[in-house]
Amino acid sequence: MRISIIGMLLGGILACAELTSAAPPIRVLLLDGEQAGAYHAWQETTPYLKRMLDDAGIFQVDVVTAPARGDDFSTFKPEWGKYQVVVSNYDAPDDRWPDSVKASFEQYIRGGGGLVSVHAADNAFANWKEYNLMIGVGGWRGRNEKSGPHFYYENGNLVPDPAPGFAGSHGARLAFKVVNRVTDHPITSGLPKEWMHVGDELYANLRGPGENMTVLATAFSDPANRGTGHDEPILMVISYGKGRIFHTVIGHDLAALNCVGFITTYQRGTEWAATGKVTQKVPRDFPSADTTSMRREYDPPAGWTSPGARPRPPSK
Ligand code: ZN
Repeated sequence: MRISIIGMLLGGILACAELTSAAPPIRVLLLDGEQAGAYHAWQETTPYLKRMLDDAGIFQVDVVTAPARGDDFSTFKPEWGKYQVVVSNYDAPDDRWPDSVKASFEQYIRGGGGLVSVHAADNAFANWKEYNLMIGVGGWRGRNEKSGPHFYYENGNLVPDPAPGFAGSHGARLAFKVVNRVTDHPITSGLPKEWMHVGDELYANLRGPGENMTVLATAFSDPANRGTGHDEPILMVISYGKGRIFHTVIGHDLAALNCVGFITTYQRGTEWAATGKVTQKVPRDFPSADTTSMRREYDPPAGWTSPGARPRPPSK
């Protein structure tokens, strides 16, 4: 009798383990392609962004590259519905996508699809209203006070500042401290309240509708480094219809991607945007309040320099 009970228990545990290991992977569409200049080298960053998701062990990632400027968009019809989440490493101007593609994307997110906006993806589509509702805030490409207020944190509150001005700025790529403002969200739960990010662009002056947006983490934009003197949004979550959006403004180049703080919040944010939950544990090598943390396996290749630091090709 005793043996059979133990046997039943064991059987139950084994069955559970089998179910867990057989859980289907989260399907991810990683979107890249056109960028404005030489500074955001998606050809370099996409393989790292893909590998970081692959290494989490719960995702299955397909990369979809949008046509380049001037190329034929008639066959660009991403099958959004095959995926639980779209990770965007893509920046392009407003008029690039056919209206039918924009409409299918809006329908997908509104119906419960997930979106992760990485760094310059929040530069894209300055005048596409629905896209800006999804990302909450954005910068550059002509955005200004008409795009929405400049959001920042002050005295523990998110402030929408309507003062006129451009949208989007950053200083030199120095390390900076990220402060979690919401510590009980699935993405930030269990993370240190403060952590040091490696040298990266600290986006500031982002503007947008900011509707249904929760700022999870901020960083102080230091006037000594061409900053605003405000605590600027770094990690955000937004809801759009039934869709969940995770917006991370960090990750300018390969050096900036190799921060365990970026990697962890990106992996967790992608899972959350897809499922509404986070099952991934906080890694032991997560950065502390005063020490950055990188991983050797994500080091840029030997001899690599940041795209902005490379000599420009001779003009034709
Ligand atoms: Zn950048």
